[in-house]
Formats: sequence, structure tokens, C-alpha cells
Amino acid sequence: MFDTFNTKGLAGRSATSLYTRRRLLATAAGFAAVSMLPAAGALANVKSLAKHRVLIVGAGVGGATAARYLKMWQPDADVTIIERNPVFIRHYGSSEHLTGAVSMADLTVSYEGLRAHGVKIVQGVAQALDPVRKEVAATVNGSVQKFGYDSLLVSPGVELLYDKIEGYSAQVANSTIPSGWIAGVQTEILRRQLLAMPDGGTVVLVAPPNPYRCPPGPYERSALMTEWLGHYKPRSRVVIVDPKNDFVTDETMILGWNHLYGFTPPQPYYDKLEKFMVEPKADCRLEWIRQKDGGKPLSIDPATRTVTAEGGKIKADVLNIVPPMRAANVARAFGLTNDSGFCPIDRRTFESTKIPDVYVLGDASIADAMPKSGYSANTQAKVCVRALIGKVTQTGIPEPAWSNTCYALAGDDWGLFVADTFRIVDGKIARTNTRARYQDLSASREERMVASRYLRAWMRSITADAFG
Ligand SMILES: Cc1cc2nc3c(=O)[nH]c(=O)nc-3n(C[C@H](O)[C@H](O)[C@H](O)COP(=O)(O)OP(=O)(O)OC[C@H]3O[C@@H](n4cnc5c(N)ncnc54)[C@H](O)[C@@H]3O)c2cc1C
Repeated sequence: MFDTFNTKGLAGRSATSLYTRRRLLATAAGFAAVSMLPAAGALANVKSLAKHRVLIVGAGVGGATAARYLKMWQPDADVTIIERNPVFIRHYGSSEHLTGAVSMADLTVSYEGLRAHGVKIVQGVAQALDPVRKEVAATVNGSVQKFGYDSLLVSPGVELLYDKIEGYSAQVANSTIPSGWIAGVQTEILRRQLLAMPDGGTVVLVAPPNPYRCPPGPYERSALMTEWLGHYKPRSRVVIVDPKNDFVTDETMILGWNHLYGFTPPQPYYDKLEKFMVEPKADCRLEWIRQKDGGKPLSIDPATRTVTAEGGKIKADVLNIVPPMRAANVARAFGLTNDSGFCPIDRRTFESTKIPDVYVLGDASIADAMPKSGYSANTQAKVCVRALIGKVTQTGIPEPAWSNTCYALAGDDWGLFVADTFRIVDGKIARTNTRARYQDLSASREERMVASRYLRAWMRSITADAFG
């Protein structure tokens, strides 16, 4: 079990040339963040939200979008965000930092754009909620302060449950075996470990169980590491140890792995992809061990970087673990979560079903068919803000619609996507696509390249749309 191969890599290209080429080719076009809602200012003339205090916890994608659209649609609204960090390090695109294609500076988003819209940002950690007094207690500069609200929006993202894998812990993750699924210091540690790894080394990525943020993300990260190692450490390999048997975008991602790295699709993928594939390579440097192949991780030994999975042990030189996750701790402290670890909401408004006048957005919410993605958090925030304005001004709440596109890379020039629209069907958020969700399996090499450009254009447009 878990025997793998060393192989010669692809033709060498420098990281600089890849990056420069990418910059030159990236277009300003692509799929912009979609809003099915009124444009800026269009809601400014309905009854005003002046004097209505909107407090937001978390200035990630969901919280920032909500703040910005509130101020655009209701310039008189009193909007304050409590955010732990002085800047946002974007998670989307952070796997490209591992290969040096983008720097940490590229991933860093300032809050000055939000401030320019009149949003007040308090750097602090929200701790507790008093729903009767409508107050949030937060630690700011070492002391506890209380913040009153009329409406509270909570978009705190996820908590990584390191301890769910025996042998793993936050302390291990912050020192020797990073996760990097919340972008930041751990992303940087992982990058340094990849650079320091000798040629011929093994990178093991432990994928998470459902539900988790960014469904194609672990598979994209594995692909990008495989491509990069092929250029710089061509005898090295990447192994995905997975508690699942499939993932969103699996067919198109696996086809990319096949074309770029010689991957042999396992059944049932092989039969479906055969006529679109190239000849697999016996010495493919990417391996995917699914749950049915013994991939379910049981424990790790941090000292030897060894993963014990149901099918056996595998020793890594660099070990990257994406552990199970739930809504960030503050959501639990506020009493917003249920047994699933995430927050139940009224689908029409994203108002918590547990505490009135509190809304939960983004990865922390239970949004049924919508994936935990930045794109989802962005459209959820717009729908939520529109509903909040309708409720407070008593001007009605429109029937909501949402969209999501998750782009992913199988390689630097090989993009793919899943695109969906959503509405409420039988009380739940359901997909309502009338067309295919995925890139066509017969797409040309040029179309794959265009999709990679769409991904980069989307990252720029979502950042501008959310953070100003
Ligand atoms: C490797 C990777 C690649 C990804 N790629 C994509 C992609 O291509 N497309 C896509 O759509 N999505 C992608 N995502 C997912 C996307 O980044 C998240 O789904 C999105 O950021 C969720 O937004 P959010 O507002 O729920 O949480 P976040 O953006 O994580 O924001 C949460 C904020 O809350 C703050 N916070 C938490 N607790 C507190 C507290 N107690 N007090 C104060 N502040 C607090 C945090 O500091 C943070 O700033 C990717 C994620 C990863 C990890």
C-alpha cells in the first residue's frame, strides 16, 4: 500500500517567468463577481437606515462585502466592523504562494477601501453576545469593550479542528506541520518547507472531510505543488490522503492531472474520461488515495511526519494537513451554532434562526447547496444586506437568488470551474442551473488557458467588490 514512484519532471521554467507571463496575459475581463442586486446608490433613496447601528463581526469576504454594500446602498447607515487582524490575508489564491507565483504582499488586502466608504473598523476580538441588551463584548487593546447594535452581522469564517486528527494540534500546525487553510503564517511555513525539501522528497496533503471551505482547493493545491516540483525538484512526488471518494470539479481536475502529470484516473472516472485523456505515465508524480483505497487518515506522528491511514502508513518530507472544520469559535460563543458546528439561518434573509436581528454569512452559515467559498460569501452578503434594509425600512424583502463560481487550477495555465445559480426550493437553498455546471471535458487547451485567466480576473474583481 502507498508505494509510489519517482519521476523526471517537466521542462524547467523559472517561477519568475511563469509569474511575468501570467501577469502579462491576465486580462481585466473574466467573470466579475455577480450581483443580481441593484447597483450602487439604487437603494439609497428608499427609507433611510440613518441611526440604525449595524455591527459586523469579521472583515473577511462576507463581512467586508456586507459593510461596503450597506454604505453604498444606505450611505447614512452607521456601520462598524470588529475584526481581529489589521489586514485581510486572502485565502483564495493562497496556494499560489506555495509555488512563489504570488507573494504574501499580493495576498494582503488593506481595509483602507472600506474606511473610505465610511465604515468604522475596530481591531479587536469579539468574545460574547448579549442578545437582550443587543451588545457585543470584544477585547480591544487588551481591555473589554461593549458595542451596541440594532442589527448584527457575523461572518467569522471557520475554525480548523486540528485535534480531530490524533497527534495533530494547533501547536504542531503553527510550527512543523502547517495547514494553511486559514491563510497567513502557516502558508509561509509551508512555502519554506517546500523550498527546503530535497529533490526526491514526498509531499503528503491530507484532505478534509465534508463540509469544508473551498471544495476544489485541496486538489488544486496538490496539482500546483506537483507542477512546481516538476520544474524544480523533478524526482519529488505529491500524495493526497483523502477521507472522501470524490470532490466537486473532480472529473475536470482529474483530466487536468492526466494531461499535465500523466495521472491515471481511477474507476469510475477512467471510463468516463478515457476518450479525452492522454496516455497515462507509469511514473506519475501525483497520487490520490481515496477513502475506498485506504485514504481515511487516522493519526499522525509529528516527529517523523508519518501519516497513518486506514490503508497503511506513509512518511512525508513535507506534510500539509487540511483538518475538519466548523464555524469559527465566536459563532459558538454567541450561541449561533447547532450540533453540526455551523449556524442555521432563515434562507431568505440569512438571519439566525436562533437569535433575532443577528445574521450569519459565509463559511459559518448552513447554506445547503451553496459551497463554502468566497464567491458564495460575497453574494450571500448582498442578499442579506438587501433583506436587512427591506426589513428595517419596511419596504419588503425580495425573493432571493444567489450564484457561485469556484474556479480552480490543475496547473498554471490549466483552469477549470463549477458555476451554479441558486434559489429557495422547498425551504432549502437549491441549485437551479439549467445548463452544465462544469467546463466541457472536450474543452481545448486554449479554453483551459482562458479559464485560468478568468480565475485571476475573478480574484481581482471579488477583492475590489468586497474591500473597495
Ligand atoms: C487555499 C484556499 C483557496 C480558496 N480559493 C477560493 C476560490 O478560488 N474561490 C472562492 O470563492 N473561495 C475560495 N476560498 C474560500 C474563501 O476564501 C472563503 O470561503 C471565504 O473567505 C469565506 O468568507 P467568510 O467571510 O466566511 O470568512 P473569512 O474570509 O475567513 O473572514 C472571516 C474574518 O473573521 C475574522 N474573525 C474571526 N473570528 C473573529 C473574532 N472573534 N473577532 C473578530 N474577528 C474575527 C477573521 O480574522 C477573518 O478576517 C479558498 C480558501 C482557501 C483556504
